Order: sequence, then C-alpha cells, then structure tokens
Amino acid sequence: MQIASQQFRERASEALLDPNIRTAFDGLKTGFAAARARSVAALPEFPAMREAARNIRTHTLENLDLYLERYEEAVRAQGGHVHWAEDAEDACRIVRDICRKAGAKIVTKGKSMVSEEIGLNAVLEADGCEVLETDAGEYIVQLAKETPSHIVVPTVHKTVQEISELFYERHRAYGFEERVTEAADLIAQVRAIMREKYFTADVSLTGANFLIAETGSNIIVTNEGNGDLASMLAPVHIVTAGIEKVVPSLNDASALLRMLGRSALGMETTAYTTFMTGPKRAHDLDGPEEYHVVLIDNGRTKMLDGPFREMLRCIRCGACMNHCPVYLSVGGHAYGWVYPGPMGSVLTPMIAGLEEAGDLPNACTLNGRCQQVCPVDIPLPDLLRRLRHERWEAGFVKQTVRWSLGLWAWLATKPRLYRSLTRLGMAVLHKLGGKRGRFRRLPLAGGWTGSRDFPAPQGQTFLDAWSKGAKQP
Ligand code: SF4
Repeated sequence: MQIASQQFRERASEALLDPNIRTAFDGLKTGFAAARARSVAALPEFPAMREAARNIRTHTLENLDLYLERYEEAVRAQGGHVHWAEDAEDACRIVRDICRKAGAKIVTKGKSMVSEEIGLNAVLEADGCEVLETDAGEYIVQLAKETPSHIVVPTVHKTVQEISELFYERHRAYGFEERVTEAADLIAQVRAIMREKYFTADVSLTGANFLIAETGSNIIVTNEGNGDLASMLAPVHIVTAGIEKVVPSLNDASALLRMLGRSALGMETTAYTTFMTGPKRAHDLDGPEEYHVVLIDNGRTKMLDGPFREMLRCIRCGACMNHCPVYLSVGGHAYGWVYPGPMGSVLTPMIAGLEEAGDLPNACTLNGRCQQVCPVDIPLPDLLRRLRHERWEAGFVKQTVRWSLGLWAWLATKPRLYRSLTRLGMAVLHKLGGKRGRFRRLPLAGGWTGSRDFPAPQGQTFLDAWSKGAKQP
C-alpha cells in the first residue's frame, strides 16, 4: 500500500493554489450536489427510504457472521469459489495465485475500490500480467499513472485538454496517430482499445457494490457497461469485496440501490446494474467458466468490534465528499490514499493506521453536511471528533498545539479574563485592520493567510452579543 496521507497539509496547500483543481471541484457542487438535491426533492418518501437503508446496514453488521456464511454457502451451491483474506497481502496473494493457475497474461478490471485499497494492480503487474482498467475514468488515471481523485468520478481533476494530450502521447501504440479533442472521439478510442482486450482477457476482475446472502449473487453498478463485458467474456472471473458488502436479500439490495444512484449522481438508477451469480451454466450463452469471490477483511473486523462500526454502513456513494467544503477546496489527491473526503478521513486511519493518516481527522470543519446527505446516516463528524481524540491520546499531536490548547483550556475556565482578553484582541485587530478591513498576513495565522485574507473583526465579541441576547454576534 502506498499511502501519502501524512503529507495532507503540504498536498492541500499545493492544491489550493491550483486553479484547475478549484474549477474542477467547484463543478461538483453545481453538478452532483445539485442533481442529488433535485432527485431528493422529487421523492417525498426519501427520508423513510434513508431510514430503511440505515436499518438494513445496521442489522446486517449486527449479524455479519451469519450473512457471510449464508452468502458463502449460496456461492458454493452455484458452483463458485469463496476465498477469505485477512489482510491486503493475503488478498493479493489469493488473486495472484488464481491468475497464475489460469496462466493469465491479460487481466481486465471493472471498477473496484477495494482492489486499490490492497494495491492489487502492482502485484499482478509484477507477476507479468497486463492489467487493464475498463472503466473509462479509471483507465485514464491508470494511463496517467495517477490515482482516482473521487470514488465515483475518478478523473474529476482532469480537463479534456489534459486527457487529449495524454491519449495523443499514449494511444499511438494502438495506431491512433491523430490528436482528438472532442469527448466523444476520446471515448471512441477507449472503446476501440477495450473491445479487443475484453475478448483476449484471460481473467476479469470486478468489485461488488453488494453481495446478496440469499442468492449468492454480487451486484455491480456502472454507467458504461464495462463491468458486464469484462465479467462475461473472460474465462475466469474474480470478485474482490470487503466483508461488509453483504446484504441479506434481493429486496434489501434493491432498497440500497435506490439510495445509491440518487446519492451519488442524482440519478434514479445507474445506467447498468448487473447481478452475477456463479459461473456459466450449461444453458447460458456467456459467462465465465470459473467464478471466484475474495472476501477481504483488512481491518474491518476490528472496526466492527469498536466505536467505528457505523463507518461500515458506507455504500461508497461519494455524497459526503460532494458536499464537503474541505474536499471541494483541496481535491481528492490531497488525501493521499484511495478514499478521499469525509469517509476517507475516517477509513484511512481505520485501515492504514492512525499514524499513517496524519492530519486527516482534522480535515473537517464539523459543519455536519456530510452526515445530512449520507444515505445511511453515518455520523461522520462524531467519528472524526473521536479520531482527533485518539490522535491526542496516542501522542500524535504536536507539542506546540498541545500547549496552545492547554493555554486556551485554562483561559476558558476564567470567564472574566477570557472576556477582557477577547475584547482587547478584537479592538486591536479592528484597529490594525484599518480601512481595508482584512489582513494579508497575521502572526500565528499563516495557515489561514497563506491562501486567503483574514477579515478584521467587526462589531462586538460573541460573548458580548450572546449576553445581550443578540441572534447574530
Ligand atoms: S460515508 Fe455516506 S455519504 Fe460518504 S460515501 Fe459512504 S455512504 Fe456515501
């Protein structure tokens, strides 16, 4: 696993100065966030559906062992194989061994966040396989040797111009000599390259949005149909999924799918929703000869056992990041690993360790918007607050911050002194701010003034306004 989350501050500072990132991520507000709002407003029963979705996930997690066993039995009954992986290394070894046994040279991949989590591509490539992402967005970031910057739209940070240059440089190897700049022409090139790979792949690999215990099926949703083609055409198909992906029944999966499309893209449903159940049967026209599911723990059992269990309800819709002011300002790459935004700021410390996660739990204004839009009501702000506490307890917080907070805590217990000092500080800043009413630079506030002006305080202090009963300070 290559994790750069410890460099969150440096990466975020760089991203804040990048106008392309600002434009690209601002687009998520007017695009996905607005589309979600419209689709929720059009559905009066949305709050009830959300509660039902939350209950399904909670019930499943409370009985996870039962449903996983049920799912395993159902997959085996359909002629499939189930493998259990304790950690990333274990999971990669299992997939690599299946590929070796199949004599795989070409592996086509549908979108799979968990395969990025375990670093699977690098392991298969080191073993001599050509691994090809078939989701257009994932393909572009693979070609650019980058990582996705959003869990639903991996290339949100890239302009059409950048993709055009990338294809011009890399697609000549496939016989495309001319440079194309229109989105439709760029996609046509991807499609032509993929078509051939689908038919020559030895193994296909996809993730799973849900695993159904009742039937032993796995569900993938895509907007391109690439997951279906990959999984149907290769002789061996491997599904990689975190153990929390299981749901009890088809009805439960349907309820969650209704929330997923609306929360992710504001769509009633994604363009392709594919149910796969075991290998090809005698009467099937297409389908894999071999069907494997690798169920990956990688820290999830530990989460299940502790105060972060609620995070396992996540259905990876991306709504929390589409509404997060921090994510929308710094973009996905600043987070330094596969899961960005609020959900990533909880998941990275959980899976990769608190030490690896650096400042991620602090990358939050605690405005609560992420929980409001989360289709399964995960209390992300509370979980982030708890992680901050754990960082403090584990000694990962800098001494200067500890001293500053200690001083503030002492001061906060002396109301008179606190009130006098805040009044004095405010008067001084007001005077120094002068006519401009803002500061370009301010001692001890470099984190703020490095990327924007600091407004000089106006009016009265909060405490004064509060004691007078004013609604606004
Ligand atoms: S935490 Fe909630 S909003 Fe964020 S990706 Fe997961 S399900 Fe979606």
